[in-house]
Amino acid sequence: MNKKKWKPIIPPCRSTTLTIKSVSSPKNSKDNHNKKLLVPLYPMERTAVLERFDVDRVRKDFPILTRTVNGKPLVYLDNGATTQKPRQVIDAIVDYYTQLNSNVHRGVHHLSQLATDAFEVTRRKLQPFINAAHEHEIILTKGTTESINLVASCYGKAFVNAGDELIISAMEHHSNIVPWQILCEERGATLHVVPISDAGELDMEAYQSLLNERTKLVAITYVSNALGTINPAKEIITLAHAVGAPVLLDAAQAIQHLSIDVQALDVDFLAFSGHKMYGPTGVGVLYGKEKWLNAMPPYQSGGEMIKEVTFAKTTYNELPFKFEAGTPNIEAGICLAHAIDYITELGLDNIARHEHDLLTYATGQLLEIPGIRIVGTAKEKSSVISFLLDGAHPYDVGVILDKLGVAVRTGHHCTQPLMDRFAIPGTVRASLAMYNTREEMDVLVAAVKRASAMLL
Ligand code: PMP
Repeated sequence: MNKKKWKPIIPPCRSTTLTIKSVSSPKNSKDNHNKKLLVPLYPMERTAVLERFDVDRVRKDFPILTRTVNGKPLVYLDNGATTQKPRQVIDAIVDYYTQLNSNVHRGVHHLSQLATDAFEVTRRKLQPFINAAHEHEIILTKGTTESINLVASCYGKAFVNAGDELIISAMEHHSNIVPWQILCEERGATLHVVPISDAGELDMEAYQSLLNERTKLVAITYVSNALGTINPAKEIITLAHAVGAPVLLDAAQAIQHLSIDVQALDVDFLAFSGHKMYGPTGVGVLYGKEKWLNAMPPYQSGGEMIKEVTFAKTTYNELPFKFEAGTPNIEAGICLAHAIDYITELGLDNIARHEHDLLTYATGQLLEIPGIRIVGTAKEKSSVISFLLDGAHPYDVGVILDKLGVAVRTGHHCTQPLMDRFAIPGTVRASLAMYNTREEMDVLVAAVKRASAMLL
């Protein structure tokens, strides 16, 4: 099927946001479930940004936040691992299976066309969300890991050869380390690592000295999942471009906290996951500049990514379908649009302000606890607090916090080389999201005090 001829049956979404005084609460689609057929699957109207961030209103949208754990109210602070989902996303998943389930990009029948339209709405919403120049620069993947692997595999095949060099940093997630190691092994290239300071900030001088005409790619996290450091993305990109090297930003921990404009950054590739931005699991995004995507061979092969197949020769589909072989996660793809709407309506600047207030408040309180050490004290920081209680294993602290209803992550956070850099086995990580409150920060601090009293 020629994708260019395919015409969506719904209007294009607005590419700009406007500020208005107030917007009524997003409708709880349970109220009209099965009455307004398909309406919840086409969330075209919710792109106005609220002026005031109301955390109590936000919390009402997340049903799981009312549950208890170990007899205590849940305080969910493992948002770096995955975020909770608002009712708007949950309802859309139910609506998809009860009203629309069908394969996409294939059938002429009604449901298939509707599912295809709804799936493509997500791509259409992602374009303005990150300000991509073209919709076809948005590849829907399984998640950040697959997005990075796609670039390592396809860009690697096309552009990386023996003697070439790639650059990553000391604070990368394993999924932004291992694909490059494998690529370097396969192609005889060298992987360089930008060191970081004790505060957890990139050594930009060292970075500059690693860049040269052999540098074929720089792959760096925008926000560190273990430290919270926000890296100077624009500067990283400008310096890399000066030697002709493209840059991949791992935005898994940035997309839900910062407003990202891929054209202003001039970034070449951007990878992120739906499940960390209040959307479903099993869908993610690779943004790539058209010029790179066109120059790269396909990733996986099979249905959907082809234009024409004969036993003699196969030609490939155009972007973005060239990189989307097989049946995608349709439900997740469609319902990600609701998460984008949700974030857009609240406004990323409002969200960032709220989270920064929580970060400052909780950090101040935690630092008063004797024996606590915060790992990751960069000046530019997102809402992650990694810490250790001197003399206590992070795992033990995590178990006590859990008994008190506080969900944190303990361990190496898929950043073992980073833990080695700090000579620690791991940390306790509280990662905050838009629905967390100051009261919850008080519960966290009290729980850490209790753990400290029990363990030290
Ligand atoms: N990069 C970073 C910085 C992450 O935090 C994560 C998830 N913890 C990933 C990549 C991988 O994301 P996913 O598991 O959704 O593919």
